[in-house]
Amino acid sequence: MKAQIFSVSLPGCSIIPLPRFSSYVTPPNFASFSSTHNPSKNLPYGFHKPLIWVHKTTGWKSNCGGGGSLIVQCGSNEENDDGFYIRRCVELARKGVGYTSPNPMVGCVIVKDGKIVGEGFHPKAGQPHAEVFALRDAGDMAENATAYVSLEPCNHFGRTPPCTEALVKAKVKKVVVGMVDPNPIVASKGVDRLRNAGIEVVVGVEEDLCKRLNEAYIHRMLTGRPLLTLRYSLSVNGNLLDLLGDRVTDRNGYYSRLLQEYDAVVLSSSLFGEKLSIPASQEPGANQPSMIIMHKKHSSSNQIPLVINEATGKVIIFTDDITAANSEMTQRAIETVAVDTINLDVILDYCNRQGLCSVLLDMRGNFSEFEDLVKEGIKKRYINKFVTEILPVWNGRAETDPLMPLKSIEQGIKVVNLQSKASDQSIVFEGYLKF
Ligand SMILES: [Zn+2]
Repeated sequence: MKAQIFSVSLPGCSIIPLPRFSSYVTPPNFASFSSTHNPSKNLPYGFHKPLIWVHKTTGWKSNCGGGGSLIVQCGSNEENDDGFYIRRCVELARKGVGYTSPNPMVGCVIVKDGKIVGEGFHPKAGQPHAEVFALRDAGDMAENATAYVSLEPCNHFGRTPPCTEALVKAKVKKVVVGMVDPNPIVASKGVDRLRNAGIEVVVGVEEDLCKRLNEAYIHRMLTGRPLLTLRYSLSVNGNLLDLLGDRVTDRNGYYSRLLQEYDAVVLSSSLFGEKLSIPASQEPGANQPSMIIMHKKHSSSNQIPLVINEATGKVIIFTDDITAANSEMTQRAIETVAVDTINLDVILDYCNRQGLCSVLLDMRGNFSEFEDLVKEGIKKRYINKFVTEILPVWNGRAETDPLMPLKSIEQGIKVVNLQSKASDQSIVFEGYLKF
């Protein structure tokens, strides 16, 4: 039975779909998973809507029939409203998914007398910030209103003027900020500037949700490297598979959403040995990620130039084969990076210079080409996250177990925030490596 998700609007209330794999302690936090709403850890009491029954530990819960469940969170006090509007900011921010790097995704809502009078989000690097769009939308109504922003407003001249000035000029009364910006050139200076202008500022509303929204941006700001995620498929008897589940590459499939979300995807040229074309996200309006194709000296990658012709996004070849770099690919203006050894240091450094915040290491094709990268990723603590798909396959014994080198890595690593999503075709789980 599939859970139904209802979309109902009640003034001052947020309707939170209850995911089938829910955990109130660590709410679903993976952008590639379809649940983007996050129940608050402590749902308040004091609701006024007639509901069917009460669950004392999680707040009001309404059984909606047909297998669907809803939690209705209705708060009349300001603190609850703050959470509601910041969650709306996050929802708006996500409209820019895949487009904003090296910038973060940001959403902004202007609220006056309990009504939303303006909304905006940052659509793309180089375009105005969320606050500018929301203030434009609100017009004169912004005066004495409260501005909600999922990330601290900037206070510096970048490609656009500082948002703090726009908020001061619009005479907003209060600003509620989801989280401070880890970018050292912003880092609390935006909040200070607003307070100095006499604006009341509240910081840290739905902070965890806002942090998860921009986990890649935050990671890059703090480490100087893009967030690196390892993706692979397994059979139910624990063998590595060069397969993806049925329909996962279709619209709303987890793989299609990963491609929308990540700035770059690393693939092996061996993947294109047959008729496979370069994967592309099927999400409407998706910005296709940069495809980094590893071309190793002794790999069977003659087909690469053929598939590249069909690629909808940018393709970059990383090769340790100087002859290949000098030949056809160069003549055809395909960006080629020739290196002595293809490793994560060079790939992540390249991505970082391009302003990319997230990289997906997509383990398909010839697994041996990933062996050194994964070992390096573990040793140097570069792999932050993993996405594993379990397929309904029980396969026979392979000649050699391609997972063996990975299984024999000495270092054990703690896994946190494990989440899963199931369909009848596969189970996908994601988690973070905590070194
Ligand atoms: Zn700004």
